[in-house]
Amino acid sequence: KDVILKLRDLKAHFPVKAGVFKRTVGHVKAVDGVDLDIYRGEVLGVVGESGCGKTTLGKAILRLVESSEGQVIYCSDDEQRDLTTLDNEGMVPYRKKLQIVFQDPHSSLNPAFTIFGSLEDPLKKYGVKSRAERRKIIGDLLEAVNMRPEYMDRYPHEFSGGQRQRIGIARALSIGPELIVCDEAVSALDVSIQAQVLQLLMKLKQEKNLTYVFITHDLSVTEYICDRIAVMYLGRVVELCDSEELYNHTLHPYTRALLSAVPVADLDKQTDRIVLEGDVPSPVNPPSGCPFHPRCQSAIERCKTDVPKLKRYEVDGRDHFASCHLVDLPEAV
Ligand code: SF4
Repeated sequence: KDVILKLRDLKAHFPVKAGVFKRTVGHVKAVDGVDLDIYRGEVLGVVGESGCGKTTLGKAILRLVESSEGQVIYCSDDEQRDLTTLDNEGMVPYRKKLQIVFQDPHSSLNPAFTIFGSLEDPLKKYGVKSRAERRKIIGDLLEAVNMRPEYMDRYPHEFSGGQRQRIGIARALSIGPELIVCDEAVSALDVSIQAQVLQLLMKLKQEKNLTYVFITHDLSVTEYICDRIAVMYLGRVVELCDSEELYNHTLHPYTRALLSAVPVADLDKQTDRIVLEGDVPSPVNPPSGCPFHPRCQSAIERCKTDVPKLKRYEVDGRDHFASCHLVDLPEAV
C-alpha cells in the first residue's frame, strides 16, 4: 500500500517541573512509542478517552509539538524524509502538505480579522502575491465548503459553530494539503450539523484525494467514515485494524468497553455496557505491566507485571494488531 507517513517509535514526553528552582521531577508520557503507517487516501481514526494522547499524537505528526524520540517519515514517489530532523525553515514545504482542523474553530480564527484576513495568511506565505488572486482562491474555497464567497468579508462572530468549522476546513484546504489531521473536528457541533460537516469532509476527500487522521473520542462517528481505526490508551496504540473488523471482532478489552457505550440501531447487536471505572491514570506514573490493568475487568495476574506488546494477528485473512495478554490464549482469536 502507498504510505504517506510512517511513525516509528514516536514519543512525546514533557518534563514536569516543580519547586522554586523548577527542577524536573518526572515526565508526562503523552505519546509513548507509537509505530504506525498512514496510507495515502485513507481515513485513519484515532480514538480513546480524553488524556490518552491522541491530540498530542496528531500535533506531533505535524510538528506542532516536538517529539522527544522517534521518527515521522513523510513518503512520496520522490523522497522519504524524517520530519523530526528538520528545523522551522526545513518544515515549510511539509507544512503545506500536512494541515490540521481543530475542535474549536472559534478560538483558531482571529476575532479581529475578517474571514478573508484569516484565510489569506497561508496563501501569502506560500507565494500567492496578488490580493485579487487571493480573493478568488478564498471565494472558491468558501464555495467548496458550501458557503457564499461574499462571506469572506464577515467576522467569525457572525457565523454559527457549524459554519465556523467549515471555514476552518477551508483554511486547512487553502494551500492544497495531502493530509489533514481532524482533531475532534465535529465534537463541539450538534448531531445534525456533525453529519453535514462529516459529509463535507468525505466529499472533499474524494475531490481532492486527501488523507485524514480523524481524532475523536466518539466511536459512533468513526464507524461510518474511517477505513482503519487505531485505539489509544495512555500514549500507546492498543488496537489497530480495519474499521469494520474493529466493530465486528474486537480483541482488546479497552476497545470493547469503549464500543459498549456506543448506541446501535439494531438492539440485538447492543452489547452489555462495560463501565470503565475511574479516569485514565496519570501519564506521569503509568501503572506497571499493562497500563490498562487497574481498570480492566479481564485482567489476569501477569497483567500487573508484564507489558503486552502490540502484536499482529491475522483474523479472517486481515491484519489486526492488539496488545493484550489474553489475545495470546488459544481460544481468543
Ligand atoms: Fe486487560 Fe491484561 Fe489485556 Fe491489559 S493485558 S487489556 S489488563 S487482559
